[in-house]
Amino acid sequence: MLDSKTLFITPIDPAIAAAADRHHHHPEAILEVFREVQAERGGLSRETIVDVARALGIPASQAYSVASFYSMLSRTPHPGHTIRVCDGPVCALHGAAPVRAAIDALASEQPEWQVQRTSCLGLCDRAPAALVDDQQCGPLEIERAREVLAGWRGTPTDYSQARPGEVRVMVANAGQIDPDAIESALAHGAYRGLKAALERTPESIVEEVEKAGLTGRGGAGFPAGRKWRFVAQAARFPKVVVCNADESEPLIFKDRVLIDTNPQQILEGMAIAGYACGASEAYLYIRGEYAAQAQRLERAIAQAEARGWLGDRIQGAAFSFHIHVHRGAGAYICGEETALLNSLEGQRGEPRVRPPYPPTVGYGGLPTLVNNVETYAAAPSIALNGAAWFRALSSAATPGTKIYMVLGHVKQPGLFEAPFGLTLRQIIDDFGGGMRAGSTFHFALTGGAAGTIVPPSSMDIPIDYTSASKGVSLGAGAFLICDQSASPVVLLRDLLHFFAAESCGKCTPCRVGTHRSLEILNRMAAGQSKPTDVAELSDLANVMQVASFCGLGQAVAIPMKSALTQFAGEF
Ligand code: SF4
Repeated sequence: MLDSKTLFITPIDPAIAAAADRHHHHPEAILEVFREVQAERGGLSRETIVDVARALGIPASQAYSVASFYSMLSRTPHPGHTIRVCDGPVCALHGAAPVRAAIDALASEQPEWQVQRTSCLGLCDRAPAALVDDQQCGPLEIERAREVLAGWRGTPTDYSQARPGEVRVMVANAGQIDPDAIESALAHGAYRGLKAALERTPESIVEEVEKAGLTGRGGAGFPAGRKWRFVAQAARFPKVVVCNADESEPLIFKDRVLIDTNPQQILEGMAIAGYACGASEAYLYIRGEYAAQAQRLERAIAQAEARGWLGDRIQGAAFSFHIHVHRGAGAYICGEETALLNSLEGQRGEPRVRPPYPPTVGYGGLPTLVNNVETYAAAPSIALNGAAWFRALSSAATPGTKIYMVLGHVKQPGLFEAPFGLTLRQIIDDFGGGMRAGSTFHFALTGGAAGTIVPPSSMDIPIDYTSASKGVSLGAGAFLICDQSASPVVLLRDLLHFFAAESCGKCTPCRVGTHRSLEILNRMAAGQSKPTDVAELSDLANVMQVASFCGLGQAVAIPMKSALTQFAGEF
């Protein structure tokens, strides 16, 4: 039992003091300090949390509020290894439950192993997937469960070959360059976009991005150029660029592939944005589950600085740009830009009241540009080739190309790049290889977890950021294709399981509404519906949509409403 005297006469644990020292005792580095200490001790005891607070000079209550928020931080120390088995909808569709049961059975005989469930790991192309300590693993197989404990990690997906019909811009160099060697990237054109930008005025770069019609690729499709202009026009300095790599929505893994295949392209896009907006400091916030990708980015930054493409006075120009990698610790809500900023500042990742919006009051109260990885990855080609070239890539209402993810019951699941405006039929037949043998299309979840659940009658609607009005959302570009063996009720239940687990709890409609909806869907999936269930689900969706504080709670209504409308008979 701790008492206040013990707390304040005992010196801070030297290992914790050293971890805080490495981060200059900066309270914003609390997640990094927690993660480093946890890596040594297997978790964060109450005494550890208090000592971290003392080392960083913040109240213990604040440190505890952070430690209790993020799913990758454990307040129950476990000195051995942890396997986090994904229970996201794609992994569920690919048999995660029996694989987890097999791993559970083996781990129960070996006390150094602990098995946990986790929300989507961003490894949907390797489903069913798991995180073994911080190593990505998949596709898992029941027969190889024992090998996972012995170090087998499965096979990463190879994206070096373009699928027929692909138009590759952002993934043009996938498999063509060594992602860990800047010389290789430079030989394939890296930083030519930044070089071209530095020969022009910042204002003309903002104009070019506006003319190109580049839309934010995080899911909302907000015009990126407008955001760039807001930040460029902000009268206060310094300004900040933030890259949102907190890719945590089920079905979405494109940012991981972009980082794994060409990290310099993302850093280059961030530097172009910094030059255009007048920012010289940048943060790349990456989800905690992407440890390998965070290391890859840190390596890429060091190499770019050594070659004069990042850092002080880039290539002799009067422009300096420093990028810092910041790891999250397991929280889907940190993909919401204001929650991300809170997390970056060492707080719980809860959304802020908007307005003010980040371009006015963002990180540390400064004008801040927040864009997604894919958005920055598109910027170098626009700076190099111009807006007209970019617009000509697509004949749809949304210009440029998009990275799509096609998953589920198709012959060739995975990722590809193509112009906006593809139909579901094209995504399945032309890029996904068609439905797998014995499968007939039943429904698809389009966009991502917060997307629409659509029937066969939606197969020929061109999809872009305007097609949500026709009932098919593009979101972040993911498509889960389901055959006759799948049920929209079960899928919706799995989605609500995710949203209920990931609701940050700040507002009642989402905190309670997701759990009440999940209870009803659990009952329905078990064949125990009540006559009032459909009406109650519909009411809950309406309340969450209009009364939730942030986009997470509001967006839960999208799959709910589309499924209830399109598949009423199955509820
Ligand atoms: Fe948190 Fe409310 Fe947003 Fe849900 S809608 S994530 S409870 S702020």
